[in-house]
Amino acid sequence: MCVIGGGFAGLNTALGLAERGVRDVILIEANEIGHGASGRNGGFVFGGFSRGEESLLHELGPQRARSLYQGTTEAVSLIRRRIDQYGINCDVSDSGVIWANWFRDQDVLRHRQNLLEQHYGEHWEWLPRDELRRRIRTTRYHDGLFERHAFHFHPLKYARGVADAASRQGVGIYEHSPAHGLRREGTQWRVQTPNGDVLAESVVLACGGYLARLQRRVDAAVLPIATYVMVTEPLGSRMGEVLTTNAAVYDTRFAFDYYRPLPDTRLLWGGRISVLDRSPDAVKRLLCRDLLKVFPQLKGVRIDYAWSGLMSYARHQMPQIGQIDEGLWLAQAFGGHGVAPTTFAGEVLASALAEGDTRWREFADYGLVSAMKPAGFVGAQLSYWWAEFKDAWKSALEGRGS
Ligand SMILES: Cc1cc2nc3c(=O)[nH]c(=O)nc-3n(C[C@H](O)[C@H](O)[C@H](O)COP(=O)(O)OP(=O)(O)OC[C@H]3O[C@@H](n4cnc5c(N)ncnc54)[C@H](O)[C@@H]3O)c2cc1C
Repeated sequence: MCVIGGGFAGLNTALGLAERGVRDVILIEANEIGHGASGRNGGFVFGGFSRGEESLLHELGPQRARSLYQGTTEAVSLIRRRIDQYGINCDVSDSGVIWANWFRDQDVLRHRQNLLEQHYGEHWEWLPRDELRRRIRTTRYHDGLFERHAFHFHPLKYARGVADAASRQGVGIYEHSPAHGLRREGTQWRVQTPNGDVLAESVVLACGGYLARLQRRVDAAVLPIATYVMVTEPLGSRMGEVLTTNAAVYDTRFAFDYYRPLPDTRLLWGGRISVLDRSPDAVKRLLCRDLLKVFPQLKGVRIDYAWSGLMSYARHQMPQIGQIDEGLWLAQAFGGHGVAPTTFAGEVLASALAEGDTRWREFADYGLVSAMKPAGFVGAQLSYWWAEFKDAWKSALEGRGS
């Protein structure tokens, strides 16, 4: 079997196969393991998909929606288990995640808290305004919800750890091996790379927003969308002026800020979504403005690192998981909520390939729908601006700036 793509989707599939005793698995990666979104992300490990819980409920009904959502919360537990089992050193901070309300309007929080409790069996704890402000030293937010089961980690270290665990169980991992051709040959697939060809009965495409250019309809079904991250200098005791919690934080706007304290007292800060993949200097400029809106006390702080990464989005905002041709499998389009769902996808695909499990059909409602490129990029950017404008307007009506 051949897995193409060394991000979390590909790595988890390969590890899942090895754990099920499948031999002759190889994984090829165009760059290095974790080169794509998986090694660059914010490190939030939480349940759910990019598609919101309410939409899932309407589209799938309570039972199916709950079962898919549960796949992601089980994936959070599986990630914890694998970190222990394989001794992966990835700076785990098991401190939960806070969803902080940017708006005075409490309905946003109440509605989601009730929905999660009633339909998904998930309890997110209410954090009243004063308690939230004790943990996050800003007047920006009003109340919050605390997801205790979630945690955060260093995603690139974790990706490398999963690759090592897979490799120790016999998976052949080939970095700097871009697949540049894929064609059916009898009952097999021929995967062409500059270093040689691979013949495999089954191939898994897991190339995220870093399009593989192997199957036109697979690439056509996703929009690569950028989001940005930067990391401050070590804050030392100044960290206490910003956060008194180790939890990771994101807010309730469409294009939310997301941030978390790192073990060496740096603050990792992410945000924005755009069709533009910006340079590190441009990312710093943009994100510093966002940072200072929340924490003006950090004025003048030095930014040591900044980068951008590409997420892959389908029009329906759900991952595309399953078999798309005889022996040809797919796991892509995890959007901005991918750490747990890629792990879930890896399990679903590994058990399909190793044991004939048909659970992947539960994703059939969310197939390869054209992303309508290049017009889709314009549409996406316009809808982002519209959503950001609505958030800014709501904030202004509540008497706050954007
Ligand atoms: C900046 C940023 C912050 C994020 N923050 C979070 C977060 O905090 N929590 C969360 O849950 N999600 C987050 N996400 C989303 C999450 O990172 C992704 O959904 C997830 O990592 C997608 O994994 P993937 O394996 O599908 O894709 P990727 O990790 O992008 O991997 C695809 C891989 O395929 C390789 N590839 C492409 N073409 C070929 C080819 N032809 N041959 C061989 N290899 C090829 C690429 O080099 C790449 O390594 C974030 C994403 C970004 C960009």
